[in-house]
Amino acid sequence: MDTVTSDQVNDFRTKLRGSILSPGDAGYDSARQIWNAMIDKRPAMIVRCAGPADVLAAVNFARDSKLPLAVRGGGHNIAGSALCDDGLVIDLSAMRSVQIDPTKRRAYVEGGATLRDFDHEAQAYGLATPLGINSTTGVAGLTLGGGFGWLSRKYGLAVDNLISADIVTADGRRLHISETHEPDLFWAIRGGGGNFGVVTNFEFALHPVGPEVTAGLIVFPLAQAKSILKQYRELVDTMGDDVSVWVVLRKAPPLPFLPGEWHGKEILALALFSPKKTDELQGVIDKVRGFGQPVGEHVGAVPYAAWQQAFDPLLAPGARNYWKSHNFERLTDDAIDVIVDYAGKLPSPNCEIFLGLIGGQASVPSATATAYPHRSALWAMNVHTRWEDPAEDSTCITWAREFFKMSAPYASGSVYINFLTADESDRIADAYGPNYARLEAIKAKYDPQNLFRANQNIRPAAP
Ligand code: FAD
Repeated sequence: MDTVTSDQVNDFRTKLRGSILSPGDAGYDSARQIWNAMIDKRPAMIVRCAGPADVLAAVNFARDSKLPLAVRGGGHNIAGSALCDDGLVIDLSAMRSVQIDPTKRRAYVEGGATLRDFDHEAQAYGLATPLGINSTTGVAGLTLGGGFGWLSRKYGLAVDNLISADIVTADGRRLHISETHEPDLFWAIRGGGGNFGVVTNFEFALHPVGPEVTAGLIVFPLAQAKSILKQYRELVDTMGDDVSVWVVLRKAPPLPFLPGEWHGKEILALALFSPKKTDELQGVIDKVRGFGQPVGEHVGAVPYAAWQQAFDPLLAPGARNYWKSHNFERLTDDAIDVIVDYAGKLPSPNCEIFLGLIGGQASVPSATATAYPHRSALWAMNVHTRWEDPAEDSTCITWAREFFKMSAPYASGSVYINFLTADESDRIADAYGPNYARLEAIKAKYDPQNLFRANQNIRPAAP
């Protein structure tokens, strides 16, 4: 922070309703912790913004002081892009308001809200929009990258439900953007990440969901996985948009519905979800159960908000994490062989291979309709490598990289931007495919100096 005097910092402080945390302050160390414990960055100041005016003041201060700048929403990005070393962090964790208009079916969501905040407010009216599958994740980062979850087959991606946003741009303007106001910028934030400014408010369309939905797990021994995945892929070909079935291969957690002898053993779990009633879904449940000989199952009526939190314990903040991800348009026999092979040699008990099913309504828009381009991807496979002890870093990371390499020939070549780790900046162009050049041009228009670069960075096109 050599470029900034203490007088300048004091003057900046007078412009804030929120507070500034600097090294040595009480609360500084907890404020610089994010979901992935592999990330250990030390910002010069963490600005806990209380509202959009604080965000504006912080953007102006960082730009004029030439400080590195990062923006923290829910702090879940695997690459640690919520933080920067020696710079200024705009911390939105105190801006978590969610307002619901049940008549218009709209949600107005501040930039630091989590999925749990969103679901809590929207479900009070029996409403929801497609977001992710862990309630601790930030709405902002998830949406800005595209955002998919249990409702995406029925209602599309989070970005497909974004109506408008309020954004603070690098030159210190506050813009209300939508399909009709600054349409290029609105297109870019629907997948382009935090590259274009700080979103202080999102407006989402809402849909009637729940409060009770049908969801749960059917768990099989890993030994049956190849046959099950082949039957599963056929089911997906014929399945309606109001059903989703995701795949997790891992060691069984000590879930109460699994017999004790299966705890810690390798399993394949099929996670079912539908907004429909359980009796309407019985045919699909029976079919999935019949794929093999399950060792346990727990499927039925559950509150939507509870299902949104069901996977939180498996992916709680504070562990060491390293991810590798591919999109798949088809699951070939060869892909299935590699997936099952690597699920049989997990390097640590909490590692998992995870196939998130997309498709359905998320595949309807064209690849260029929003900055998120992967409309033909049917699965986003993510390798959640997860462990506690730094001594395991090398074994775990090597396993993930090796599996990634071995599965690459069967994948589509594209990847979801929100699953990229810090060492994958060479994959950003692939993550945007046909939209990359337009994103570079829009970046040049709205952030020519690349102020917002602590992210999966899209560089401004050369003038
Ligand atoms: P942050 O790290 O705070 O932010 C992520 C990026 O967005 C950073 O570059 C940041 O600068 C920028 N940013 C954050 N807030 C703003 C803002 N208000 N304005 C401008 N830029 C901002 N993704 C899915 O699509 N579906 C899932 O089901 C899913 N599940 C997940 C589960 C877990 C446990 C985790 C860790 C991640 C999951 N993800 C999922 C990926 C998730 O979408 C990304 O990690 C996303 O970046 C998280 O957003 P965040 O706000 O929590 O993170």
